[in-house]
Amino acid sequence: MSPNLQRSVPLLVILGLAAFALFLRSRQPAPPPLPGPVGTSPVPSPGESLSALGESPDWPQLNVYQNTITRKEFERLLTTVFVTGGAWRGFIDIQENGARIATGSGPDSTPFHLRFAPPDLEEKAPRGWRNTAELPPARAGMPLDGLKIAIDPGHIGGAWAQLEERWLKVGDQPPVCEGDMTLHVAKLLKPKLEALGAAVSLVRDKPEPLTPLRPESLVAEARSTASEDSPQALQKLAERLFYRTAEIRARARHVNQTLKPDLVLCLHFNADPWGDPQNPELVERSHLHLLLNGAYTDEEVALADQRFALLQKLLSRTHAEEARIGASVANTFAEKSGLPPFLYPPGAKNALQVDGHPYLWARNLLANRLYDCPVIFMEPYVMNSTIDLPRIQAGDYEGLRKIEGRMVPSIFREYADGLAEGLKRHYENHRPR
Ligand SMILES: [Zn+2]
Repeated sequence: MSPNLQRSVPLLVILGLAAFALFLRSRQPAPPPLPGPVGTSPVPSPGESLSALGESPDWPQLNVYQNTITRKEFERLLTTVFVTGGAWRGFIDIQENGARIATGSGPDSTPFHLRFAPPDLEEKAPRGWRNTAELPPARAGMPLDGLKIAIDPGHIGGAWAQLEERWLKVGDQPPVCEGDMTLHVAKLLKPKLEALGAAVSLVRDKPEPLTPLRPESLVAEARSTASEDSPQALQKLAERLFYRTAEIRARARHVNQTLKPDLVLCLHFNADPWGDPQNPELVERSHLHLLLNGAYTDEEVALADQRFALLQKLLSRTHAEEARIGASVANTFAEKSGLPPFLYPPGAKNALQVDGHPYLWARNLLANRLYDCPVIFMEPYVMNSTIDLPRIQAGDYEGLRKIEGRMVPSIFREYADGLAEGLKRHYENHRPR
C-alpha cells in the first residue's frame, strides 16, 4: 500500500460516512433549527436559526419594555399586524401577567420573560425617536419644524444597477434604472421637506453602496446557505447577499447609530416581473401601495433575529405612527397621481392589509424591520408599464407636458410633491399646538 493510499483510506471512510449521513438526512423532514446562544455574538454559530448575515439577538435589551404594554394590546398588535400564521404560539406563550418568549429554537434555550402592564398603568419605554404627539408645537407655516427625517433612496443604481437587477431597457431608449430614479426623487424631496421645517439627511447621496463588502467577499457565506452549488448559482447568491442583505444592514447601522431620525422614507418605484431586462415585458397597469412593518411569516417568526426584531417593533410602537403617517401620505399621493391601489392576492402569507386601508400593507422587509424608527416604504408606479414608462423616459422637467395624450407633471416631481404634501397634511392635522 503506498503512503498516499494509506492516507486516503481514513478519508474514504469519512466521505462514506458523510454521504450516508446526507442520505439519512435527505430521507427525513428538515430538522427543527437548533437553539442559538443568547448574547451579542456577531457571528452566528453553526446551526443557529438566524437570517442571512443576521446577528444573535441581545434579548436583555427588551427589558426596557417591561410593564409598558397591556396583555390585550400586545395580543392585538401581534395577531392583527405582526404575524400571518400560527407558528408564533410555539415561540411566544402569552400568560396572564406576561409572555414567555423563546430565545432559541429548542428546549435548552432560556426564555425571555416580558411582564405586561395592568390596564391604564403602562410605563413609558425610552426610545430614540419621537412620534407626532411628542413633538413640540411647530413654528407658524412649518408643520415639519424640527422633525428629523432620513430619506433612503432604494437600491444603489449607477454602475451597480444591472447587477442588482433593477435595470431594464426598451429598444434604443435610455435604460430605466430604479436606483438612479429614487436618488433623483430624494434630491427633489429634500429641499421641499426642509422648506416645511424638517432636518433632512439622505441615507445615500450617490450611486455607491454603503457596505464595504462586495460579492467576492460573500462567496463563503453564499456557499454556506446555497441549495445548489454551481458556480453561477453561487455567484448570483453572493451578489444578492451584497446588494440585498449586506447593503441594507449597512444602511440600518448608519440610520440607527449616526442619523437617528424620527422617520425614514424608503423610496422605490414598483414594477411587475419583466423577464429579459434587454427585452422587458410591458404591462398596461400602474398602481400604488405603501408598506409598513408587519406580516411576519411562520418561517420568519422561527428565526431568532427576526422574532427579536418583531418584538422590538411591536413594543416600541412604531406601527401606530407608521399607520397614521402612511394613511395621510397614501391618500394625498393617490389624489395627486390618480394611481389605483395595488392588491396582494387574498390569503398572501407575507402581506396584511392595514386598518382596511386600500393602499396600506404590512410586510416584513429588511429595511422596515432593521431601522429602529417608524418607516414609510413607498411603492408607487410600475416601471415596465405602458402608462409610466413614457413618463420615466421623458425625464425630469418643470410644469406640465403632453405624454401619451395627457398633460402631466414629471413623474419624479409628482412623486416628491405627493409625498411632501402627504407629510405636510399629517403634521398640520396631528401635531400638538
Ligand atoms: Zn425598489
